[in-house]
Amino acid sequence: MIQSAREWLEKDRRYVWHAMSGYPSGASTLVIEQGDGAWITDIEGNRYLDGMSGLWCVNVGYGREELARAAYEQLVKMPFYPLTRGHLPAIELGEKLNEWLAGEYAFFYSNSGSEANEIAFKVARQFHQQNGEPERWKFVSRYRAYHGQTMGALAATGQAQRKYRYEPLAPGFLHVPPPDSYRRPDELDPEAYGRECARDIERLIQWELPETVAAVILEPIITGGGILIPPDNYLPAVKEICERYGVLLIVDEVICGFGRIGTRFGHQSYGIEPDIVTMAKGITSAYSPLSATAVSQRIYEAFAGSGEYERLRHVNTFGGHPASCAVAIRNMQIMEDEELPERSAELGERLLKDLSELGEHPQVGDVRGKGLLVGIELVSEKQSKRPASPQTVAAFVSGCQKRGLIVGKNGDTAAGYNNVVTLAPPLSLTEGDLEFIGETLKRSLEDLPESAEESE
Ligand code: PMP
Repeated sequence: MIQSAREWLEKDRRYVWHAMSGYPSGASTLVIEQGDGAWITDIEGNRYLDGMSGLWCVNVGYGREELARAAYEQLVKMPFYPLTRGHLPAIELGEKLNEWLAGEYAFFYSNSGSEANEIAFKVARQFHQQNGEPERWKFVSRYRAYHGQTMGALAATGQAQRKYRYEPLAPGFLHVPPPDSYRRPDELDPEAYGRECARDIERLIQWELPETVAAVILEPIITGGGILIPPDNYLPAVKEICERYGVLLIVDEVICGFGRIGTRFGHQSYGIEPDIVTMAKGITSAYSPLSATAVSQRIYEAFAGSGEYERLRHVNTFGGHPASCAVAIRNMQIMEDEELPERSAELGERLLKDLSELGEHPQVGDVRGKGLLVGIELVSEKQSKRPASPQTVAAFVSGCQKRGLIVGKNGDTAAGYNNVVTLAPPLSLTEGDLEFIGETLKRSLEDLPESAEESE
């Protein structure tokens, strides 16, 4: 039976509870039917350039038949076996991930970024116990950071609006302010600011007693919280502080990994070596669900005991699904063959240069990015950097969509900073796609009133 778009949309409203939405959803949404390259098509035949790669994840773009084939061939050969035992795609993927990490990590596989972070927290606490420091149980994170939706990952998240209503969450998660280079105090140069922000973490560790702190968790660049790019010395300074106090460093690479910011993993842009790396999304370019928690050999070896409570007591059914591992391996091969991390660095730089003229608009406070991760911060007044009204931000986002470009809207609602329009297009986008993004953003911005008063 052929159904009209209207019928599908009506059923969507009735049966599908959308993320971040109430029920019954009043607003109509896009229902996407097809994808090709950087473009998606909805059930009414409208085409959009997907400037957000789904949810920051379809890194190699849509329509890659070889990824579908990798899943098919694995499903035919051996569809499933749990990782309470072993299977070949999991081993092969671990080897490949270590090539990319240029290190020697062991991988615990799961199904989502939230889960990968939960596992990192469990590993960190148990590591310290088995390493003779059982009182290390606290975690340091940053405000505006996003680390997932489960009770531990949400506790690590530093955005109150996501937590309110679901508290109390897992105890032991503490937060410090993130580096916000756009609002860097005038008296500090970027280096001094990087040091100062890292010092916030050090001070918290000292106040809490270092022997009670298990780990620091951070993204190389805060993404969902509004594309907050730290000064170059910030991550190395945090790593140094962690080492000094015996605190583990967990780097959340769920978005920044797999080429997004111009290197294979985001932390490689800053020259640090984490103790634990969590990853999801781009690992398979979202063709199949998969995540991983990479732990250094030093940590892995602390679990070598054979006692009942010396093992990592964590199990999940689907984690490291053979089809997902097969897709991940093929996906990483595509990224290597097409040099997508390098392409991300190069095209990202070009896009940023092209977008720099947006900054002349009175309501654009800042245009920033690294690789193919870009944030456009809208303000109602440049002098005070007061965030633009939600209506202004929404008008810009929907203006882009009407012209065929999907962009994101990110930041931190509770703190009043939900004013960053974001871009994270597939790394495989064409030069024509890149021009389309620049043109569409410029034309959509022209529609915005020149002053905040006019837009309110
Ligand atoms: N960490 C970061 C940095 C993320 O952006 C996300 C998801 N947007 C997560 C963790 C959680 O991943 P998932 O949605 O797969 O649970």
